[in-house]
Amino acid sequence: ASTAAPAFQAVLERIADEIGRTPGRGRPAGYIPALAACDPRSFGMAVAEPDGTVYGVGDWREPFSTQSVTKVFTLALDLAREGDALWEHVGREPSGNPFNSLVQLEYENGIPRNPFINAGALVVTDRLQTRTGDAAGELLAFLRAESGNPSLDFDLDVAASETAHGDRNAALAHFMAAYGNIDNPVPALLDQYFRQCSVRASCADLALATGFLARHGLRADGTRLLTRSQAKQVNAVMLTCGTYDAAGEFAHRVGLPGKSGVGGGIIAVVPGRCTLCVWSPGLDERGNSVAGVAALDLFTTMTGLSVF
Ligand code: GLU
Repeated sequence: ASTAAPAFQAVLERIADEIGRTPGRGRPAGYIPALAACDPRSFGMAVAEPDGTVYGVGDWREPFSTQSVTKVFTLALDLAREGDALWEHVGREPSGNPFNSLVQLEYENGIPRNPFINAGALVVTDRLQTRTGDAAGELLAFLRAESGNPSLDFDLDVAASETAHGDRNAALAHFMAAYGNIDNPVPALLDQYFRQCSVRASCADLALATGFLARHGLRADGTRLLTRSQAKQVNAVMLTCGTYDAAGEFAHRVGLPGKSGVGGGIIAVVPGRCTLCVWSPGLDERGNSVAGVAALDLFTTMTGLSVF
């Protein structure tokens, strides 16, 4: 609290005002009907302080499909259990390729580039599944506890729709299984992964649930999930790999560790200071929320907060 940043609520209202005056919101993800039906004019944003105080604007209490944002939480939950051994099964380099790309897997022997492309997220969920017997359930329990919202849940219609359009994720999982980098039967893994992606939560829920990354690894109740170094590792991989093949552009504009999802949500972290979540379903051609990136850009510009 040593910065001269104006109070968060006033900043959020100025951002919402600015976003409201900006036309062009991109298009909701079209690969499953449940996402294609979202209204691109929706916009919400929340900021949570490390003590759990939360500020918000617009549709910040509206639940949306979290999708790839959940990859941060499964990474943290698995890293907490197995530590550095995880990094023998998934890398931490940006891929420069689309999130569902197969091309690098072959010449990298089934070891995905990072935990936030789909191949890497499948490896993480597989390992969490082996350790807990219920990876998606473990994720949901964590999100409920950290957000203080026991009503968070899976959207089984979205999960079923993902399964019906799941050939590409199935191909990734089978391909890595052929290299011995997947433990569980592929159909069981995909079931866990699609339920994971289907969780519905609001900006308020996700800003609070991300708090452990601003608290250097401490959960909301003060117990330790990650070591300080592991929290740093997760923030680092968010900065370098969290926004699909536009992570360089995101770092340039926003300057914060962030993770986006095709539901239009983005979480971001100012370590030691606050966590953010913004949601607007219209995406750019790389899959990041257009208004979401613009809002985070405005936030770091207005407050002067960033990791740089
Ligand atoms: N369920 C989506 C998939 O695996 C997640 C995509 C995303 O948010 O990046 O295709």
